[in-house]
Amino acid sequence: MDINSSPPTGAPSYLDPAHFGPWGIYLQQVERVRPYLGELERWIETLRRPRRILIVDVPIHMDDGRIAHFEGYRVQHNTSRGPGKGGVRFHQDVTLSEVMALSAWMSVKNAAVNVPFGGAKGGVRVDPKTLSRNELERLTRRYTSEIGIIIGPNKDIPAPDVNTNEQVMAWMMDTYAMNEGSNATGVVTGKPVDLGGSLGRREATGRGVFTVGQAAARHIGMDVSKSRVAVQGFGNVGSVSAKLFALAGARVVAVQDHQHTIYAEAGLDIPALMAHAVRGDALNDFPGAQVLGQDQFWDVDCDIMIPAALEQQITATNAARIKARMIIEGANGPTTPEADDILQARNVLVVPDVIANAGGVTVSYFEWVQDFSSFFWSEDEINARLVRIMQEAFAVIWQVAQDKQVSLRTATFIVGCTRILHARDLRGLYP
Ligand code: NAD
Repeated sequence: MDINSSPPTGAPSYLDPAHFGPWGIYLQQVERVRPYLGELERWIETLRRPRRILIVDVPIHMDDGRIAHFEGYRVQHNTSRGPGKGGVRFHQDVTLSEVMALSAWMSVKNAAVNVPFGGAKGGVRVDPKTLSRNELERLTRRYTSEIGIIIGPNKDIPAPDVNTNEQVMAWMMDTYAMNEGSNATGVVTGKPVDLGGSLGRREATGRGVFTVGQAAARHIGMDVSKSRVAVQGFGNVGSVSAKLFALAGARVVAVQDHQHTIYAEAGLDIPALMAHAVRGDALNDFPGAQVLGQDQFWDVDCDIMIPAALEQQITATNAARIKARMIIEGANGPTTPEADDILQARNVLVVPDVIANAGGVTVSYFEWVQDFSSFFWSEDEINARLVRIMQEAFAVIWQVAQDKQVSLRTATFIVGCTRILHARDLRGLYP
């Protein structure tokens, strides 16, 4: 079905093409996989409708005595292959459309790397940088309590995403445990190691980006150790990806965050830049770097570009300017479908989010398994298993892309959606 045609009778509002934004992009991606689903196409509506959407009011006392209200969401897109799994984002621009799309991308990603999870995502419309630590804790606890009716170690397991971290996960776990009256370490992943977190989780997403990036580079005859890399976003995913590429000998020539873009032709000293960022110093104060305008980032001469900030960054307006031969999507949804087409026509390889950033959820899966067994693995064991899963998943996807002559994104959707719909088909419908 053309997504621009009228939705079927009784269709919910989010199937209406007027409801665009990230969810609309996801619906377009589903259309691209439709011809490859065979018999399973009869279940495709499963992919086009989230299983469950919860919108919650999150009222908190501010430090100055006022009462503030924030809007929160938890969306469980699909649970055919296992409990819902996906991060929680605190950002002033979070929308329901965005959380729906992010939850759906989690379903595809979890199936693509074959971990036994469905897809879910959460978010609160708040700029956490404007909150004190106590306000942030109250917000986290109230939000967790509100979504507590649908999360749980066997139901839906949140994790960190933009502007949420190990401390936020600790508060979420504690709130859930208090409400349940039992210890439930497996209700969230990305926890501090001292509270049942996993070694290697903090670096896992960046390590996955690096692992699939290296594999993809080999396929196109690119030598990573001689490459120049530009990274958008210098938080968890961007900084670790940059660090691992630099360790492999690459020159990280440009880094951008939400305020500044810096450039150094000889390569930025990434460990020093990470220490600089941890101190809270602005990127444009980093010694020895040239400061560029935000929009100049897209013109930087580089071989690899890693968007690791937010969605819809690479669009029809800047895709033609990108000089990289390969884009590795650390962020979720950074490239619009129109930009995908422009890049493909220019022979720029896009390693899509649904495989490139799956390292985080893979080690989250290890964390969840370790919590259930209360038996913890060494970091070497974790990293080795992570690399193996990512390499194997990428090899399958690369082969599908070759066999069917489709982009890596469509190939990943073919692998992921087929697994989801096969599970749906095996379960049948209740009642
Ligand atoms: P983070 O909060 O640690 O970092 C986000 C970074 O993006 C910051 O450096 C911020 O300054 C920058 N940024 C924000 N808006 C920007 C803009 N308009 N232009 C340029 N830079 C901007 O978040 P994170 O956990 O690193 O997540 C980044 C992306 O990776 C998100 O899309 C997230 O969904 C995805 N992701 C994260 C994980 C994980 O394990 N953390 C896993 C999979 C995918």
